[in-house]
Amino acid sequence: MSKRPLTTAAQNPLINAEKQESASSNGSNTMVNNTPDTSTVATNNEDWSVQDSADLYSIDQWGVGYFSIADNGEVHVNNPTSANRSTDTTTLNNTSVSLVDIVQGMKERGLEMPAILRIENLLDQRIKELNEAFLRAITAAEYQGNYRGVFPIKVNQQCHVIEEIADFGRRFNHGLEAGSKAELIIALSQLRNHESPNQDSLIVCNGYKDSEFIDLGLYANQMGISCFFVLETPAELPIILERSRALNIKPLIGVRIKSSVVVDGHWNEDSGDRSIFGLSTNSLLEVVEQLKTANMLDCLQLLHCHLGSQIPNIRNIRNGVLEACRFYSELINEGAPMGYLDLGGGLAVDYEGASSNSTHSMNYKLDEYCANIVETIIESLDPLDIAHPTIVTESGRATVAYSSLLLFNILDVRNHEPQALPATLADDAHELLHNLFAVLGNTTNKNFQECYNDAIYYRDEIRELFRRGQVNLHERALGDNITLAILEKISHILKTIERIPPELEKLPELLSDIYYGNFSLFQSLPDIWAIDQVFPVMPIHRLNEQPDREAIIADITCDCDGKIDRFISPDGIRNTLPLHKLNKNEEYYVGVFLVGAYQETLGDLHNLFGDTNVVSVRLNGDGSFDFVREFHGDSISDVLSYVEYEPKQMLEQFRRKAEQAVKEQKITVAQRQEILKAFKESLQGYTYFEREQVN
Ligand SMILES: *Cc1c(COP(=O)(O)O)cnc(C)c1O
Repeated sequence: MSKRPLTTAAQNPLINAEKQESASSNGSNTMVNNTPDTSTVATNNEDWSVQDSADLYSIDQWGVGYFSIADNGEVHVNNPTSANRSTDTTTLNNTSVSLVDIVQGMKERGLEMPAILRIENLLDQRIKELNEAFLRAITAAEYQGNYRGVFPIKVNQQCHVIEEIADFGRRFNHGLEAGSKAELIIALSQLRNHESPNQDSLIVCNGYKDSEFIDLGLYANQMGISCFFVLETPAELPIILERSRALNIKPLIGVRIKSSVVVDGHWNEDSGDRSIFGLSTNSLLEVVEQLKTANMLDCLQLLHCHLGSQIPNIRNIRNGVLEACRFYSELINEGAPMGYLDLGGGLAVDYEGASSNSTHSMNYKLDEYCANIVETIIESLDPLDIAHPTIVTESGRATVAYSSLLLFNILDVRNHEPQALPATLADDAHELLHNLFAVLGNTTNKNFQECYNDAIYYRDEIRELFRRGQVNLHERALGDNITLAILEKISHILKTIERIPPELEKLPELLSDIYYGNFSLFQSLPDIWAIDQVFPVMPIHRLNEQPDREAIIADITCDCDGKIDRFISPDGIRNTLPLHKLNKNEEYYVGVFLVGAYQETLGDLHNLFGDTNVVSVRLNGDGSFDFVREFHGDSISDVLSYVEYEPKQMLEQFRRKAEQAVKEQKITVAQRQEILKAFKESLQGYTYFEREQVN
């Protein structure tokens, strides 16, 4: 792997003495660590329990019982559903499967890291929990309407995910939401409405709709599937009316309102007056008039309101529902029959496990979300004697986030530990080096700020002299090294200090290790790059050992943005992640959890790292598991053809080069064959780092 320093290192004003560590499965590179361990925490595995690891990584909080750590230090996924899929009754049992066992099984099947692991049971479980929570709230409040969930396809369009939702969701009449023609085609083909007589899963169509889109939806209605067109703009209505007349099929129409509730969190631009979606109040009245004129007001049956995704604050949700109910009742006053209240997505995922109203968390539980919605509707509509509508929600994130995780191995570690320093400096060493060395000896918890300033001053002086040719490379390296030793020492002192000077706050982070992960952030975790999303990240094994390194994680794209440097912790977001030292000849596996929502199709081919391998696993009631599906990720030839190369032609061009080299006697014919074979094999290979197989 060739790499240039990432900005984390390059921009780092303090660092430039670096040392490479490497662990690899074939043992060709051995770990170099001949300096005494000056690292952060004293390791005492005797005193370290897996519970300490659980607390450190908050797994019990964000894992909500789906993930836990076993006594042998491996992360397990717990089986929340019973093995028997044909019954609705699922019981909680204690069977769980080690992620390490799954990784091992993948390896045996030729599915190398990085890989996305999908746990079917968790997807089923989320659908079940969502539907049952609404059912509980409805029963408790004696609500007269039903609940009908729809899954918004855009959140994870992968065929297997949608098939599983359609299949398992059938028993709850869970439907699909489509935002484009392609998604409507997915919904029409995947929903299993024809398989049982009382099936009435919905299809809700948002987004801009042309006549082709509308025809498809109308045909669905004709076939008995409830397919709603939600109007985003008044311009859509004439097309719907025209196609409806032409095909002689009545449409089901919904209107999307712009809520004036501005929500907390990242997605607040979906809400409020400035939202680019939804009808203004004037447009809404215009739509009602047009429907009246066309004598089709009876088609207006649904009100749609989507406040945004990942709404961390329950108060926003309540206010959104309240306002939606006002619109709902006004439309009834206008004479529309209505019957469906669609509250969109927004149900959050507690990525941080903090139960707070911060962006990546949520200050409510699922039951509370459902109860709030049901009760708010009752409070708003009962006084007006309006019948309780069917509640529709379009939860995407909360449905799929838990079921996927990204797994990758660590290829390499770069740390900033200073090289061993001599006990004393030679008398004729440069004066500035002597000064620096003295600072190292003098640094205490009383004068560390002053020592920090001095160290940086002397170091910069040495660098200046280097530029002018008055200090040689050895002297400069020694200067950098002594500076690092001083900074390490100060970093240790900071741990014992209550108030850290602002200038030094970032010091531990700047001294942290860089763990190079075998994945592309842009392909597999785009939201980290795009919207500063945080996901739970942790090693999936060795959790019975105390992690004694602090690290950031860099991917293999060599892009300065290809890094993870914001992590969840019990004390809020922090910039480094505790990790273990690599063991020689042993892979170190890291998991990024809760990545089932939005990550897969938003990913891109940055640096031509393609789709990763994907496996779907189903956990059985007896503690075993099945590989239900496996998809091999893109080969190099695949990604090249995405950017319009023709791999066959490339091979031919390369062959000509090789033939020319034979002619010029640079290589032999036998060597030509070897070279062409390597080229061909590379074309077929995985785009990620492949370990040499040990035979
Ligand atoms: C994106 C989107 C959703 C899904 O939102 P989540 O917060 O992921 O549940 C639902 N409805 C609409 C209209 C959307 O655009």
